[in-house]
Amino acid sequence: MKNDYLLLTPGPLSTSETVRKVMLKDWCTWDAEYNQLVQDVRSRLVQLATTTVDKYTAVLMQGSGSFTVEAVLGTVIPKQRGKLLICTNGAYGDRIVEMTEVLGIATTVVSTEESEILDEQRIAAELKRDPAITHVVVVHCETTTGVLNPAKAICQLAKSYGKITIVDAMSSFGGVEMDVFDWNIDFLISSANKCIQGVPGFGFCIADRDKLEACKGNARSLSLDLYSQYKKMEEANGKWRYTSPTHVVRAFHQALIELEEEGGITVRNQRYATNQEQLVKGMEELGFHVLIPRAYQSPIITSFLYPKQTNFTFEQFYQSLKKQGFVIYPGKISKVDTFRIGNIGEVYVEDIHLLLGVIKSFIVDKQELFA
Ligand SMILES: *Cc1c(COP(=O)(O)O)cnc(C)c1O
Repeated sequence: MKNDYLLLTPGPLSTSETVRKVMLKDWCTWDAEYNQLVQDVRSRLVQLATTTVDKYTAVLMQGSGSFTVEAVLGTVIPKQRGKLLICTNGAYGDRIVEMTEVLGIATTVVSTEESEILDEQRIAAELKRDPAITHVVVVHCETTTGVLNPAKAICQLAKSYGKITIVDAMSSFGGVEMDVFDWNIDFLISSANKCIQGVPGFGFCIADRDKLEACKGNARSLSLDLYSQYKKMEEANGKWRYTSPTHVVRAFHQALIELEEEGGITVRNQRYATNQEQLVKGMEELGFHVLIPRAYQSPIITSFLYPKQTNFTFEQFYQSLKKQGFVIYPGKISKVDTFRIGNIGEVYVEDIHLLLGVIKSFIVDKQELFA
């Protein structure tokens, strides 16, 4: 079954036909075969996250990625004397701030301009100034702009102050190489529908086992209790608490196999990076400019500025591209007008070249918009 268009968005993204196909059957949930598949997913995730596999575990959680972020924050930060340092330079960091307000978690926030990377010196100063901080959270790839934050350096810094570290690696895990042990990450969060190239329906956390074991009774929510979900999965050999998204889990398992067949994260990262380089090269030739300096641009998604002093509108551009088989993304930042084009998912360099051709003919056909 052919798709109507290619998704050049940061998730849900275009998946392979073979991933979609496993969802055409109904699968039971309360039996050993399914539970074994869940266990295989968990162990594959840990292996993707680190070579120090014994120290870590993977917990799956129903819902979109934000549900897992909320489950982690609500479970790992103690109700008494817990304080979270939030480092933010975009919408996803700001969402974490919002979650802590709802959850009633004490915080301190260090924010940086959306088009900049997080400022390590200011984070260091805050860690020094406020000894009450117990946890530090950072977004790795801030999908708002495509900035790749120095998560490894920030976690190392946080560890040197003895803090517990949480990384939202939602849009980078599976597409950018990292080792949670080497990077000093205690809790890493991602979801099914990003670089692993599954479909939406659950998120997951790669957690330091000992740190997670210490979280009993912390949860501020019954459903979003990461510790209880972990205990259930461990003790009942791959069972979830409450209904699990069976079709999505099956599709995700297939996506994990396909990631392995592609050659693992290194090879996938290369594909995304090539997509991104070719995209920027072609767009610059067409007169567009990127928002983020090359030094901290991720291979995941790229923000482009609207062409200056023209009648260009995103809506017209978007509709025209969609008609010709490409769905792109609006910008999400406040200060300048941007649109975004993602490189992740079942997307290859030939697709990028086709897209560039379509954009080129848009410019030629709609010259009045660029006057
Ligand atoms: C996609 C994403 C999320 C989660 O978004 P959902 O819409 O809840 O899946 C969180 N953080 C980042 C950085 C993301 O890219």
